[in-house]
Amino acid sequence: MDTDRDIRTTPRGFHCNLCNVNLANQSSLDEHVKGRKHRTLSGVRTTRKAQEEHSLFVSGFNRGTAQTDLVDYFQKFGDIAEVIMDKDKGVYAIIQFSEKDSIQAALSQVEHQMKGLKLRVKPREKKEFKKVQKKKPDFKNLQELLEKLKPMLCETDSVNAQMQCVVERFQLGENEKKARGLLIQLLHEVFTEFFPDSQILPFGSSVNTFGIHSCDLDLFLDLENTKTFQARAKSTTQQAADGCSDDVRSEDSILSDIDLTTASPAEVLELAAAILRKCVPGVQKVQVVVSARLPLVKFHHRELDLQVDITINNRLAVRNTHFLQLCSGLEPRLQPLVYTIRYWARQKQLAGNPCGAGPLLNNYALTLLVIFFLQNAEPPVLPTVENLKQLACEEEECVIEGWNCTFPSLSISVPPTKNTQDLCSLLAAFFSYYATFDFASSVISVREGRALPVTSLLCHAEKNEEEAMEASKPFSQAPKLGPLNILDPFELSHNVAGNLTDRSQHSFQKECQEAEKYCRSLQYQRKSSKGKSWGLVRLFTPHSEGPRHGAQERPPEKELSIVLPFKPGVLPKALRSQLSLAGDGFRLLWFQGACDAVAKVFQNILKCGPASPPKSLAVEDGDTDDSADTSAELNMSAEHTDDDDGISSSGGAIPQGKARGGAKRPLTSESSDTSLSPREKKPRLGSGPKPGAPCWRWSQSHAVWAGRRKVRRELVKDTDTRPEGSNMELEMQVTQHIVDKEPVLQDPLEFKVQARLVGATQSTRVILKVRPISDNKLFFQDFFHFLEVFLPKMVDTLMEKGVKNA
Ligand code: ATP
Ligand code: MG
Repeated sequence: MDTDRDIRTTPRGFHCNLCNVNLANQSSLDEHVKGRKHRTLSGVRTTRKAQEEHSLFVSGFNRGTAQTDLVDYFQKFGDIAEVIMDKDKGVYAIIQFSEKDSIQAALSQVEHQMKGLKLRVKPREKKEFKKVQKKKPDFKNLQELLEKLKPMLCETDSVNAQMQCVVERFQLGENEKKARGLLIQLLHEVFTEFFPDSQILPFGSSVNTFGIHSCDLDLFLDLENTKTFQARAKSTTQQAADGCSDDVRSEDSILSDIDLTTASPAEVLELAAAILRKCVPGVQKVQVVVSARLPLVKFHHRELDLQVDITINNRLAVRNTHFLQLCSGLEPRLQPLVYTIRYWARQKQLAGNPCGAGPLLNNYALTLLVIFFLQNAEPPVLPTVENLKQLACEEEECVIEGWNCTFPSLSISVPPTKNTQDLCSLLAAFFSYYATFDFASSVISVREGRALPVTSLLCHAEKNEEEAMEASKPFSQAPKLGPLNILDPFELSHNVAGNLTDRSQHSFQKECQEAEKYCRSLQYQRKSSKGKSWGLVRLFTPHSEGPRHGAQERPPEKELSIVLPFKPGVLPKALRSQLSLAGDGFRLLWFQGACDAVAKVFQNILKCGPASPPKSLAVEDGDTDDSADTSAELNMSAEHTDDDDGISSSGGAIPQGKARGGAKRPLTSESSDTSLSPREKKPRLGSGPKPGAPCWRWSQSHAVWAGRRKVRRELVKDTDTRPEGSNMELEMQVTQHIVDKEPVLQDPLEFKVQARLVGATQSTRVILKVRPISDNKLFFQDFFHFLEVFLPKMVDTLMEKGVKNA
């Protein structure tokens, strides 16, 4: 079976070659194989294989040969399903037959001739199916690029000059701008033919002053006026039909095929794609992408070697481009800072997803990080968006899709900054600012120029709904919160870094920490008299082993620990409100909730009982928390009071620090000051009252992990298709069934679970360390692998329901 071939065992579990993913254990592997990704790729591979087996490779015909000529010639061997021509050069074709036998028929003919030319006909090459990997800039490329830049940078006298040099080297040249302008003009002419009164507006890096040679051209096709035109034309046509007018202009227009007010974006974009294909010279690889956040049509311009993206609902992006232009006009240091930081981020593989969406920062998000840092410099280099709004005059007022986008159109309206720091020190300050930034509890607001506590957005959706109703504004969603939160300056419900993974956020901060360290060295600040690399050159040196990832940095705690990430999205409304009120202390409150859920999973769902008390505390101390804590981590179990276990009144083993008998210390938030700037807000989480340091000792007498899936299937009889861990009552029944039907384990499995809260400069999460305390180590491995998958899902389910109600 193909699936068997795809999977290989590794020292840490399994690896799926088809999808290129690692899987920790058998149950993750089973889930993966049944999952959408694996099934889709398997399906694609089967189709490709069938296509290969049904196809011939043909060459030797005339360049101008049409597909129909090939069909005419080859159909004598059997029905033809498809002919794929080599479009660029027209020198070969793939002929795909409906039946395999046709291949043999064609190949058995000794010679093929078409229009007097001898054809070469052979079986289509069979290629190993590989998932198309997104192009990643590899180390060699990055290193080569830097080698070219190095002599220029090393020759300059200061880091300030090096930064200016980076701008000169990368910025769009006048000719490039002109060529882009001509293409825009051409597109305008073509589109207005079909969409009367439409406009085509550039936005993004081509015009926001941060563009580099290879950057794409982002365009907004504005059809607002065309809609008006169409409505007017319709009524005129109606009048003409009624005999009142003879203007029937719209009859001839492409607009007679589509109603712009009711057509879907996909329909409009398909139309735009057809116009591009047919009417614009040099256009190739036209593709409509409807799955993007904002659907678009993209194409490549051959002569200009330029990637062009056209969107139709993107007025906000045009406006945020003007905002970036204004910031550049206000502050000449912004451009060299952005170019340098963009280049640094690219070299470290932190930013720029080569093929669109992905888990890295995009250039827009990165630019906002620079602006935010400058708003928070001392004294501020850039004003906040709110300040700018106050400085605008009445004519500059601008509201797009309900969002206030007002700011002055000219930089002269804004008072200059008093900050005189040079570029070299601002760059170093940028790295140190983000090296210690508390990403996990902050939301970066360029609008307000300060970090908002993440908790203030937990109730955002509800607040927005109320505000929207009061002001009859469009209701907006809460931003998608993640490991790095950057609110768009105008569309306040949009986290522009919402695509980032834990790993990429962690890498970004790690790199900032390393860069900060380097910027303190003499090599950064002083030109080498011996001609060695100095200043930016060393900062730009890529890592030879590819991007640095958080996972590599993590301590070996992963070995036997289970991570529960903070997921505000799954929390019930009431808890979100409580967390929001708790301000900085939200972590402790959430930690408490997560611990309650963990206890419930062991006690109520997996029906664990309390383990026998430790024989001697001295022995236990030896194996308590020996993990290497960093100062950035809040270790709630650091005092080792946790082994002083108490048994909760409900029968579970839920000690709360020294508070025995399940009594819980009240949780108070550490600070109600939710308006501190990140610099003031260095992690202070260790201070203030602590809740208990949860450490549970459980005992399990049944193999409740074994055969769960089968029992679940039997119990629901395929009526409940929800995945494992998403239905509390069902999981309780499954455990009960195993307890009732299966024999007890010869030796009960006794184990300890210790909870630790991590936060501040790392993502907020609970780390549960699980260890056996009985000799039953064999079963422990199986049980642990089961818990790795089951526990986080079950905790999410309980938290979603509200642990108390669950
Ligand atoms: P480059 O193309 O050089 O990577 P860019 O700024 O043009 O940089 P794009 O990803 O092409 O980046 O996006 C074009 C523009 O669309 C941005 O400049 C910005 O105005 C807007 N934009 C991009 N991503 C977002 C986002 N996540 N949220 C809001 N606006 C965005
Ligand atoms: Mg762009």
